[in-house]
Amino acid sequence: MTDNQPPVEKPPGADFRTARSLVLVNTGEGKGKSTAAFGTVLRGLAQGWDVAVVQFLKSGDWQVGEEKICRELGVDWYAAGDGFTWNSEDLDESRAMARGAWEHAKSLIAAGRYRLLVLDEISYAMTWDWIDAAEVAATVAGRPENLSIVLTGRDMAQEVIDVADTVTEMRKIKHAFDNGIVAKKGIDY
Ligand code: ATP
Ligand code: MG
Repeated sequence: MTDNQPPVEKPPGADFRTARSLVLVNTGEGKGKSTAAFGTVLRGLAQGWDVAVVQFLKSGDWQVGEEKICRELGVDWYAAGDGFTWNSEDLDESRAMARGAWEHAKSLIAAGRYRLLVLDEISYAMTWDWIDAAEVAATVAGRPENLSIVLTGRDMAQEVIDVADTVTEMRKIKHAFDNGIVAKKGIDY
């Protein structure tokens, strides 16, 4: 028996149980945070769940691929800037759009009918103090019991990590971009 055998028994002392929902964080510098979130969207759709995605950064044309196919599959998709209205003249546009996305995310959480919600690139809005990390963490922690939430983006706020069940840090070993290769349709968006 070598150390390379797959584990066959549950860890000693672990008391396994089912969960009504989970909170997942995909963070880190490497590629794959949003891709993994959309993989989870596919799994939720396969279960017949109501699924919603909120994108916190205006993505231009980059993510039209997943947005188009997700909408076709019945995902409720909101991108920062959708339904955007000026709240105050001293809010800059990106901040106001991120705050609008968070208000929308809160309404989706409160709606009670979703089983999976992706908050894509939400970390940046907290890093830049556009939305309050403690409020995000408290809202996620107080979600309806059947709603799983995936939050993505680099440098995820510790408050959010603290309330998550599963936190994955994507670590860059190589990235094509470092070799001068630009984002590729079908792979990066
Ligand atoms: P993806 O959407 O491909 O899963 P991601 O969500 O992990 O990437 P983001 O920070 O959201 O990463 O990056 C958005 C875009 O930048 C994507 O096209 C992605 O391929 C690219 N990207 C991701 N990580 C890196 C990196 N370390 N260096 C350069 N570009 C990156
Ligand atoms: Mg991403």
